[in-house]
Amino acid sequence: MPSPSSQPSEQNQGACPICERTVPDTAEAQKYHPFCSRRCQQVDLMRWIDGRYAIVDELPDEDEFAFDE
Ligand SMILES: [Zn+2]
Repeated sequence: MPSPSSQPSEQNQGACPICERTVPDTAEAQKYHPFCSRRCQQVDLMRWIDGRYAIVDELPDEDEFAFDE
């Protein structure tokens, strides 16, 4: 049980990590927890994939080079 008085950042609890809006307490919104909507969930996913592609992006070049030999 968190005690409300000792948590200064409690305001942020239940807020969407993408748009920082408070996630509505509806079944629909809770489906995408901790995001407020499907859109924000996908934005997070895209960011994640984006980071992965950025790393992977450097590999094919090397691979192609080795394949060339
Ligand atoms: Zn959001």
